[in-house]
Amino acid sequence: MSGRFSGMKRSKAGARSEKLFASERQKMVRRQLKARGIRDKALLRAMKAVPRELFVPENLREFSYDDSPLPIGEAQTISQPYVVALMVEAAGLTSNSRVLEIGAGSGYCVAIMSHLAGRVYAIERDEALAEELPSRLAELGCTNIEIRAGDGSAGWVEEAPFDAIIVSAVAPHIAQPLLSQLAPDGRLIVPVARGTDNQRLMKVTRRGEDDFSEEDLGGVHFVPLIGEEAFAPAG
Ligand code: SAH
Repeated sequence: MSGRFSGMKRSKAGARSEKLFASERQKMVRRQLKARGIRDKALLRAMKAVPRELFVPENLREFSYDDSPLPIGEAQTISQPYVVALMVEAAGLTSNSRVLEIGAGSGYCVAIMSHLAGRVYAIERDEALAEELPSRLAELGCTNIEIRAGDGSAGWVEEAPFDAIIVSAVAPHIAQPLLSQLAPDGRLIVPVARGTDNQRLMKVTRRGEDDFSEEDLGGVHFVPLIGEEAFAPAG
């Protein structure tokens, strides 16, 4: 086997691994998403189309389609594919939706949502991660996005209202500013800490000016949301 690829041109090897990743991606959609009840057809198509391997560090690429989160540097993680799908499906996006993600991280969830929504706004607190996002997403042809570096725990008031807000880090509570930035019938998807080692993924829907309904979508595991309307930085 050794040397089998040695004479192969780089581009051919590249095409080969692209094909391999594509087939792993199909498998991921079937086994991790469809099998667990993800039904939104446009979402499943987007999950089949976006190359997750381009959002993970090079040395971890072989694990791109594993059923788990992966480290992306700066002590942060790219979410498990199923959790991304669960959150995005709960956000109920259509081609007219304006959606905000707080905690863009690698930008994977932004890329998925850019296939489904009209416009995607995203905020990332970590400067180094935020800096990489525009070029990575532009290379993939995502043009309907707006990225900002900084603390997004109080939302993005200048761009509100949003049809959906996804918080991709665990919050200590459901922040009032986020609720007030929801459009009528808008959905807030947010993991909330309930004591040690217990995080619940909550969906809050705006039924009226001051009328909200809550739904618990299950247990999850996220890194902390740090900021003004969130946890204080460690140390
Ligand atoms: N959806 C991302 C997951 C990122 S992990 C992905 O698919 O890759 C959570 C991210 O939230 C981290 O990158 C972290 O830096 C960021 N974060 C934490 N607190 C934040 C805040 N107050 N505002 C914006 N981003 C925050």
